[in-house]
Amino acid sequence: MAHPLLTVEDISKTYDGFKAITKLNFYLFEGELRTVIGPNGAGKSTFFDLLTGRTRPDEGKIEFGTEANNSHDLTRLNEVEINRLGIARKFQTPSVYTEHSVRENLVLSLKGPRGVFSSLFQRLSSTENDRIDELLKLIRLEAKGSWKAGLLAHGEKQWLEIGMLLAAEPRVLLVDEPAAGMTDEETYRTGELLLSLAGKHSLIVVEHDMSFVRQIARDGRVTVLHQGTLLCEGKFDEVQADPRVREVYLGRGKHGTR
Ligand code: ADP
Ligand code: MG
Repeated sequence: MAHPLLTVEDISKTYDGFKAITKLNFYLFEGELRTVIGPNGAGKSTFFDLLTGRTRPDEGKIEFGTEANNSHDLTRLNEVEINRLGIARKFQTPSVYTEHSVRENLVLSLKGPRGVFSSLFQRLSSTENDRIDELLKLIRLEAKGSWKAGLLAHGEKQWLEIGMLLAAEPRVLLVDEPAAGMTDEETYRTGELLLSLAGKHSLIVVEHDMSFVRQIARDGRVTVLHQGTLLCEGKFDEVQADPRVREVYLGRGKHGTR
């Protein structure tokens, strides 16, 4: 079996004595699209905070790299260093440069040592131009490349931000509740976009919306967190049928498993 790209073992994180994450194990393989679900407060965003160096675990191991003897210990790196290794995070609220065009937003995010100014005023190489065109197509904003990003609909801004993250060519993409605040149509398209990235990229998607989870988890695995621990892991159907998952979700009423 291949070595995981991301190896998380026995991590714990407490905030003033409150256990946000307890003894969590998690393995992500290259090209995987993993969905992480769990009720509010389960520790999903904290898990992303730990992976990205926003906060450090009290104990446990977080390693990045498919070679066992040559992996990076993420618990020793800061946010910028982790991001440079190719772990990119999409927060819930989109942050795009509203006064710049959609195309410029992508240019500003291209991989490479270009400053903000040179990005906008320097000519792009044809490879870079092709890359931008490809990204615009992928996020389905080809027709709006010259629009000011601030004029986009909420869902479109989210796609643009995913495009911006992709422009930096990450190895792992962490996406926190992308469907929040989206229309059904936007949610479905977001699912298609994320599915199209699997294989080329490795992704962890945190999500609440069960019909969306069903869509994106059709071939992949689902990890269920509850009170900072791993409740269960498996294919969507298995997870959905698990009585513990039903109890955790149905017990809260709001986010049913149907
Ligand atoms: P989820 O994303 O699954 O809804 P979170 O990871 O945001 O859950 O939160 C898990 C728990 O940890 C919550 O009870 C939250 O209040 C707590 N928590 C998260 N971050 C912090 C922090 N920086 N300081 C104190 N408590 C936190
Ligand atoms: Mg959260």
